[in-house]
Amino acid sequence: MLIKSVSQLIGHTPLIDLQITIPNNSHIYAKLEMFNPGGSVKDRLGQFMIQAGIDSGKITADTTIIEPTAGNTGIGIALATQQHHLPTILVVPEKFSFEKQQLMKALGARLINTPSELGIKGAIKKANEIAAATDNSYVPMQFKNPANPAAYYHTLAPELIVDLDEPITAFIAGAGSGGTFAGVTKYLKEQDPTTKAIVVEPEGSILNGGPAHPHRTEGIGVEFVPPFFKDITIDQTLTISDADAFKQVKALARTQGLFVGSSSGAALAASLKVAETLPPNSNIVTIFPDSSERYLSENIYD
Ligand code: PMP
Repeated sequence: MLIKSVSQLIGHTPLIDLQITIPNNSHIYAKLEMFNPGGSVKDRLGQFMIQAGIDSGKITADTTIIEPTAGNTGIGIALATQQHHLPTILVVPEKFSFEKQQLMKALGARLINTPSELGIKGAIKKANEIAAATDNSYVPMQFKNPANPAAYYHTLAPELIVDLDEPITAFIAGAGSGGTFAGVTKYLKEQDPTTKAIVVEPEGSILNGGPAHPHRTEGIGVEFVPPFFKDITIDQTLTISDADAFKQVKALARTQGLFVGSSSGAALAASLKVAETLPPNSNIVTIFPDSSERYLSENIYD
């Protein structure tokens, strides 16, 4: 395969049949988003949001791009802005992984850290402050930009339909900004209204009504209900403990040769729970958003 730019490698990731034996003969399939060039599902978003900004005239030749991010969106944005030679500032709560922060810098972005205890809300506030003080700046703001769910509605979701070519009984995925879950759910339910949409969150996320508190599962979990959820029907919200998520991260490496991050572990733990409740021969589709290699400094396999 001859390519002219890494941006051509974004999307069209493999869907793996995990071949896990489930008594009712259901199957769990996982979309392996680590195979995007920046290593996560968020490369799709970076490319889509920057292109949407250019198309709408909000981004011009010298615009400084500023974004609050847990890391993977930052990498996806930095990949996209590099192609267009746009200066980029990423605002990241300091608790997020060392490797992700190194990768953002490697791509040429400037990093600003905010205190961990202020959460993603602290990073959002800081990004807005920097933007207000910077001439010709643009904040894509993944947490409310309609291009976020649209990125997944137009790319990931149609790929799932083509990859599987069988009815999807349940779609299960975590939510950080909620863009992946909302965009894919909207598309899949348009194709087949019987598809169940099940959102996964770690303990400490607020969707199931519990109080917000820190968790080890990285990339998913919300401090506020994503505005994109207004546009979709959610059939169930499953809360997965950090322990259960990391147990599946280890099992996936040992049994499947898959190095995935903890949000993938949570997605598999939830899929296994849901599998028991579905009719025989169900097809469960989930997303594995990134690789564990960007969390190795957190000793996740110990
Ligand atoms: N998993 C990981 C590792 C992530 O970085 C993210 C994005 N924060 C997600 C899942 C959730 O994606 P979304 O923001 O589309 O809800």
